[in-house]
Amino acid sequence: MTNEELRASLLNAPKNGYVGLTQTQRDEMNAYCKRYAAFMDACKTEREATAWTVALAEKNGFKPIVPGMQLKPGDKVYKNNRGKSILLAVIGSKSMNEGVNICAAHTDSPRMDLKPNPLYEDSEIAYFKTHYYGGIKKYQWPTVALAIHGVVCRKDGTTVTVTIGEADTDPVLVVSDLLVHLSADQMKKTLAEGIVAEQLNVILGTEPLEGEGSDLVKLHIMKLLNEKYGITEADFHSAELTIVPAGKCREVGLDRSLLGAYGHDDRVCAYAQIEAMLSLGAPKRTAVCILADKEEIGSVGVSGMKSFAFDTFMQDLCDATGATLNRCLENSFCLSADVTNAFDPNFAETCDKRNNSMLNHGIAICKYTGARGKSGASDASAEAMYHVRKVLDNAGVRWQIATMGKVDQGGGGTVAAYMANRNIVTVDAGVPVLCMHAPMELVSKFDCYMTMLACKAVYEA
Ligand code: MN
Ligand code: MN
Repeated sequence: MTNEELRASLLNAPKNGYVGLTQTQRDEMNAYCKRYAAFMDACKTEREATAWTVALAEKNGFKPIVPGMQLKPGDKVYKNNRGKSILLAVIGSKSMNEGVNICAAHTDSPRMDLKPNPLYEDSEIAYFKTHYYGGIKKYQWPTVALAIHGVVCRKDGTTVTVTIGEADTDPVLVVSDLLVHLSADQMKKTLAEGIVAEQLNVILGTEPLEGEGSDLVKLHIMKLLNEKYGITEADFHSAELTIVPAGKCREVGLDRSLLGAYGHDDRVCAYAQIEAMLSLGAPKRTAVCILADKEEIGSVGVSGMKSFAFDTFMQDLCDATGATLNRCLENSFCLSADVTNAFDPNFAETCDKRNNSMLNHGIAICKYTGARGKSGASDASAEAMYHVRKVLDNAGVRWQIATMGKVDQGGGGTVAAYMANRNIVTVDAGVPVLCMHAPMELVSKFDCYMTMLACKAVYEA
């Protein structure tokens, strides 16, 4: 054998996904990414993603799961977990005792939530005080256009949905930063200290109401909110209002190969799962799709992946098909679908390039995530990794192996460990992202499309 022949037969040679991409695949990829962008424009919070998914699922024949119901192969059910997370299932032809195929993603993203007493006036400017949610670099959030999304439960028991800053005719909101001319002291601080959490105050207005009195700018803002949403200041105590970047998902790059949006993490995997789920007929194994909340703050709470809501849903499915929950979980497989870092040559020193995901190389499969000696990871077994390798290769899905950054540089978590703790074989996988957790994150269209195909392959395995 020549060295070239040996090389071809012995060595791994990762290729850019555009190599060998057919026109048909390219057309499908672009159509998929258009649908994904529309989802991103409609859904910037877990609530919005849940409501949107419920509506689409209903349209595609999914019914709410009801305790005591009987389910047969091909039946489609879902559980809306308090409007904050959603679980869906398509019943397979095999007994659930033989296990199910799960894909789990999250729909919450880092942002700035309003504090319970958010509205105040200082120096004749009205503001909202915020408490950031999830891991953000605080200096990235001033001087970008922001929107308010959320709900307010009013005193009379009704709930009103608030969205300001997304329509072309809407005003947007902004957090101020210091002018460079006076930044001599600020510029000496670290990036972590240059803008601190208590400076993430959102400008709401500057025009005082006519007449006498104090805090007339604040009063003016409250009057406007009352006129539009019927709320009073005390209603902020029973509200979930959140500040997110305003604007739509955009094509990025002169070749339009990337998508830029707020919150690809992790709605890019959530959407992939939804489309994969809706494309299923009657799979062999029951397919389960989880769109969880609270991943960005540790998967806690009633709508997070640690919640017993998942176990209850699985118990209901088992009851409805005559299976036993523990048997089912023991034989199940889960793809924990969450984004990872794409290699960024601007910050090459933070990564081990030989083990990092690259844009346009397909869905990234991670044996482990975590930090400092894999802490917090589920660390999939060789057998679990082989299962994914086989399933994706057989389905012709382009994928790459990946770890997140250099060892001891940092790290990240996903819901994988919480699935694995339930005795479910779990592997991490997801779309590589540039500038993760920034107001605008970048993903490649090719990787988005491959992630949908990967979820479909897992469901059909
Ligand atoms: Mn994530
Ligand atoms: Mn994240």
